[in-house]
Amino acid sequence: MKNKRIGIIGAGPSGLAQIRAFEALQNQGYAMPEIICFEKQDNWGGMWNYTWRTGVGKYGEPLHGSMYKYLWSNGPKECLEFSDYSFDEHFKKPISSYPPRPVLFDYIQGRIKKSNAREYIRFNTTARWVSFDEDTQKFTVILDDLKIDKTYSEEFDFLVVASGHFSTPNMPYFKGIENFPGTVIHAHDFRGADQFKDLNILLIGSSYSAEDIGVQCYKHGAKSVTLSYRSNPIGIEWPDGIKELPLVTHFEGDKAYFKDGTTEQYDAVIMCTGYKHKFPFLPDELRLKTKNNLYPDNLYKGIFFNDLPQLIYLGMQDQYYTFNMFDTQAWVARDFMMDRLQLPSPAERRIDMDKWLERNDQLQTSHENVDFQTDYIKDLLSMSDYPHFNLDEVARMFKEWLQDKEDDILTYRDKTFRSVVTGTMAKPHHTDWMDELDDTKERYLFEAEEEEMIPEKM
Ligand code: FAD
Ligand code: NAP
Ligand code: MG
Repeated sequence: MKNKRIGIIGAGPSGLAQIRAFEALQNQGYAMPEIICFEKQDNWGGMWNYTWRTGVGKYGEPLHGSMYKYLWSNGPKECLEFSDYSFDEHFKKPISSYPPRPVLFDYIQGRIKKSNAREYIRFNTTARWVSFDEDTQKFTVILDDLKIDKTYSEEFDFLVVASGHFSTPNMPYFKGIENFPGTVIHAHDFRGADQFKDLNILLIGSSYSAEDIGVQCYKHGAKSVTLSYRSNPIGIEWPDGIKELPLVTHFEGDKAYFKDGTTEQYDAVIMCTGYKHKFPFLPDELRLKTKNNLYPDNLYKGIFFNDLPQLIYLGMQDQYYTFNMFDTQAWVARDFMMDRLQLPSPAERRIDMDKWLERNDQLQTSHENVDFQTDYIKDLLSMSDYPHFNLDEVARMFKEWLQDKEDDILTYRDKTFRSVVTGTMAKPHHTDWMDELDDTKERYLFEAEEEEMIPEKM
């Protein structure tokens, strides 16, 4: 095994889960295969590694990050907790259920900072092109070392694609938008609500980005927020100052025209219209082609590219579950790469995928979506030794979260949940989310007893 080489593209939560999975086996006495992980940013963490930049990175590469200042977890942390590294173990005290980005970034790093994970990662390195040789059964990956502007290649027996899929904007056109006088951006380039203070803003889309950017802008002082939906409105009771309208038909100057005949003036437009799965480094025959959904086709167990299972994709599903799902995938992928797991024939794999795809097609409600992804992860858990956790309870918490958001979009982040890993009940944050304008880790981790001492701004 020692001479098998494994390449990983991306050191976000998925790529790091893959490294962690191998380390877990090493701790049981197995020899570590040769692993090289390539990361185009200068640090790990993927989306959670916040950048102020937009457009391109330091070395002119398309910028990966889509997160923004003041971003808080939009689901309970109890639904994403690593089952081999709890929040208690990391923070040494109970924290709230919806931490801000820097706190979750800190948590992601905790378990890998303890190990040699960094040694496997080549930062500032973009995977430029991949090919597969049928004769040698090896992948060749062409890489750019961005710092020294050098192109070189590496060969691998297995290739893990963990490059994420919420980075390349889906940017639709609306007639007349080219003459809109104000800011027009995609959510990918949104870096915080500050610049939208006192403005009338229009967000196109009706999913998580539209919901959260709308609420963030409202919280930080936008004059008005309009969400424009294509298929279905989010449909909750919005506070005064946020409303939903059907789809924009066209723009004239700074006026937007909507399907229901409404016309309104705006200062800025933010396209919250989702992302494209984009793999510019993969040739046609190796490339996953899918929309954002819970079961991309051609991935056996949601992981193995069916035409060539040595090509492994992590985290390509739409996500209710995140970090713990990436872990369960990475553990199964590891066992295949380590010859601890045999896959059935391509035809049997096709039957298994079709079964999931059929069910995916039938999904109608968000509760059914949660149950689907829960069952998917249960299936993966039965295939590896990733520590089991109570998935039925996590599914129940997801459903409670959905209800909480419907009840009050401004206060759902003040709710608390109990960990299925440690049994610990979360502790409410010292400040109501709507009043908390500071998302730093330092301010967040202040003890409630010291509330009078919490600095206004840290
Ligand atoms: P990513 O985190 O996207 O990491 C992929 C990595 O691959 C990046 O570091 C990138 O630089 C690297 N890469 C890409 N292409 C190349 C290349 N060619 N060569 C080398 N490296 C490359 N999830 C939650 O659980 N809670 C939340 O609150 C939450 N909020 C979110 C908010 C936003 C705005 C977005 C966009 C996503 C959010 N998510 C959230 C989901 C998020 O996608 C996952 O939590 C997680 O980051 C996915 O991990 P990943 O490793 O699969 O992908
Ligand atoms: P998404 O869930 O894929 O939703 C895309 C939205 O764009 C849908 O509402 C879709 O409408 C709409 N859309 C697509 N094309 C359109 C068009 N031509 N015209 C009008 N509408 C169009 O993408 P997302 O909302 O960006 O979420 C991506 C990920 O980021 C999620 O995992 C989410 O959890 C995460 N996120 C988290 C936070 C946080 O607070 N932590 C904030 C933002 C995002 P249809 O329904 O009609 O297809
Ligand atoms: Mg990754």
